[in-house]
Amino acid sequence: MALDAPSPEVFDTPAAVNSWCEHRRLHGARLVLVPTMGALHAGHLHLMDVARGLGTDVVVSIFVNPLQFNRADDFAKYPRPIDGDLAACARSGVAAVYAPTAGVMYPPGFQTHVEPGALADPLEGAGRPGHFRGVATVVCKLFGAVRPHVAVFGQKDYQQLAVVRQMVTDLDMQIDVVSVPTVREPDGLALSSRNTRLSPSDRAAAVCVPQALAAVAEALAAGTRDVAALEAVGTARIAAERRARLEYLAVVHPDTLQPLADVVDRAVVTTAVWFGDVRLIDNRLLAPQ
Ligand code: AMP
Repeated sequence: MALDAPSPEVFDTPAAVNSWCEHRRLHGARLVLVPTMGALHAGHLHLMDVARGLGTDVVVSIFVNPLQFNRADDFAKYPRPIDGDLAACARSGVAAVYAPTAGVMYPPGFQTHVEPGALADPLEGAGRPGHFRGVATVVCKLFGAVRPHVAVFGQKDYQQLAVVRQMVTDLDMQIDVVSVPTVREPDGLALSSRNTRLSPSDRAAAVCVPQALAAVAEALAAGTRDVAALEAVGTARIAAERRARLEYLAVVHPDTLQPLADVVDRAVVTTAVWFGDVRLIDNRLLAPQ
């Protein structure tokens, strides 16, 4: 994208972004929404690249959603470099940015939430009660404000993607949800806005997360189908790193996210690992050869 690409339109209320989007739709635009919490990195930029190929106008939302944080310190410490984010959106050829405040998103009297079902219960849902209720609610509101034809999400947040797809189906939203593979550092660590909060030692140690997922995939490729044995391989890799504290590592069904006894078909290995007060998540799709 040319460096002199026009700056995106920036909106901070649902009415303003909605009226711009409606105008664009009337002119035949196909709107592609990329929801983010900002602190944009190459993973987000890749989502925007994919989005550009899926429609005429890319709309990026930037909103650190208080409803999906269950720890006040995590919400408070979440990076918010809005000027750099707007510059990155301009360089990526984004047509519009929707960046409301929390007060605009959840004004006094706000009381309606989207309650996801069983997909939201295990894994992230078990460790972060209410997280996916917050995610589903804010994504529903973003969809309502922008009314995109297409919405792009990263596979990095695998369970979020599953919950959003289910919401779109259950609530008849008629939005095409597109998923994008995880963008990684050269050593395999998944890009995340939270990586900037890792100390240098923890950053070096965090490579154990993708290595644990790779070890599970290798064990499966070598013939181990028993899920407990596969999980033990991944857990051992995390346990070998003394700076890491494992919250969970699970091999589950890729569609239902329910536990499996054996991997006979597709599966996903998914994990959450702490380094100090920074919690990283990652996942990898698995298929026996
Ligand atoms: P976030 O700002 O962390 O809420 O993420 C916004 C979107 O970017 C979500 O759909 C994420 O899944 C996606 N995303 C975050 N990190 C990555 C990554 N490393 N690769 C691809 N997509 C990502």
